[in-house]
Amino acid sequence: MVDQLKAMFPAVTFIPGEMFSWSPDEHKITYNQDDSQCKDQWALLHETGHALLNHASYSNDYELIEMEVAAWEKAKEIAAKIGTTIEEGHIQDCLDSYRDWLYKRSICPSCGTKTIQSDQCNSYSCFNCHSGWQVSPSRFCRSYRALKKDSPVQII
Ligand SMILES: [Zn+2]
Ligand SMILES: [Zn+2]
Repeated sequence: MVDQLKAMFPAVTFIPGEMFSWSPDEHKITYNQDDSQCKDQWALLHETGHALLNHASYSNDYELIEMEVAAWEKAKEIAAKIGTTIEEGHIQDCLDSYRDWLYKRSICPSCGTKTIQSDQCNSYSCFNCHSGWQVSPSRFCRSYRALKKDSPVQII
């Protein structure tokens, strides 16, 4: 599939690597060469979606989710062009895990109140108990699997 995509989108660089990701700075997609599983092929299509949409920056977590949704929509178009389909359930699972992860980051570690992200991208503060905390930067494409082992909130 990678060869097909390379031929279709010569402007995008595809580099083999450990996992699937899209790097806007270098305009390159890293992909896992073991694409024997449907999920891996779908991940590759999804990254290609980000690339074609030129996804680069987002100002908050909600914008990031919107971009994830858009990338999946684009991935479905690309899939149709090469005669394959992406399971809708898989897309929903990915997006749900993503939302879960973002939700958990926004819960105050001191009092459990749901808060909103402050203007600075990676910091939250609680309006209830006035605690502040930092989280690791959000990134594109947290895969379904990677999400599970990730700690949702990293307190500094
Ligand atoms: Zn609190
Ligand atoms: Zn993504």
